[in-house]
Amino acid sequence: MSTDEDKPIASQVTKPSSQPTSSGGAVKITSQNTPQSQSQSGSGIVRAQGGVVMVPLPLRNLASQATKGGVSSVDGGGLVLTQVNVYLVYWGSAWAQDPTPSADDITKSVASIMAGPYMSALAQYRNVGKMLVTTSDPPKTFSSDDVSNLLKDLINMETVPGPNDVDQLLYCVIMPVGVSSDQSNVIGEHFSPGEDILCAWVMNDGTLDSVTTLFSHELVEACTNPNGDGYQLDAPGQCSASPINWCEIGDICEGIRDDVNGVIVQEYWSASDSACIAPGSNVTN
Ligand SMILES: [Zn+2]
Repeated sequence: MSTDEDKPIASQVTKPSSQPTSSGGAVKITSQNTPQSQSQSGSGIVRAQGGVVMVPLPLRNLASQATKGGVSSVDGGGLVLTQVNVYLVYWGSAWAQDPTPSADDITKSVASIMAGPYMSALAQYRNVGKMLVTTSDPPKTFSSDDVSNLLKDLINMETVPGPNDVDQLLYCVIMPVGVSSDQSNVIGEHFSPGEDILCAWVMNDGTLDSVTTLFSHELVEACTNPNGDGYQLDAPGQCSASPINWCEIGDICEGIRDDVNGVIVQEYWSASDSACIAPGSNVTN
């Protein structure tokens, strides 16, 4: 498939990651993160809701096993991304039509999220690459496999940098308006389809705020629990750490979003604060 490629992400110095095939974290549309079976061995999902997403805190704080409010963090000891690089793949011919929000709007907002205080504990250097894939369209009802197959094709054709070309590389496929996941109520997800690929996808309701909210949710979770063996939570009544249905720092703060430098993001769980936060936001919760 052909593409309109923007600059690939610059490479960075990071710790090596050899990761097994793994699982995911998704966002769903309900107010709670309920368990979900998926094709991967695990994932983090986001359920549709008011349309909110979140981000992580200092990793060392998460390791502190805060239990206030009954929420405790579980450090699986696996890979975390402290200097993530993001590669956005805008999938579908619709992206060539200058839709609302446009790929440029989203890319600028993502760059703001990556560079701003929201990610303050996660990285010193963050880069965003992007590419429009306008010669194919996602199926009206797409699966996680559709997303990973697209990415594997792009990587094999060397039209996007491979996971071994850039350290701590997270691919995020941005869907066009009008397609939806085959997982009921799931509007965003991150997972690893193997081959050292770390990826996420987010749905698009035609508003920039929703896309950035979902993106921020998946971003912070992918940083703290890229393979399912990093940081998860035990949040009574909400979700529990699991190798299959990941209970992550975005999941228990779903629905809470803030404005950080003009970009709408979701809050994420801070163990040290025993609260959902969005560093850099005007709002205190
Ligand atoms: Zn999540």
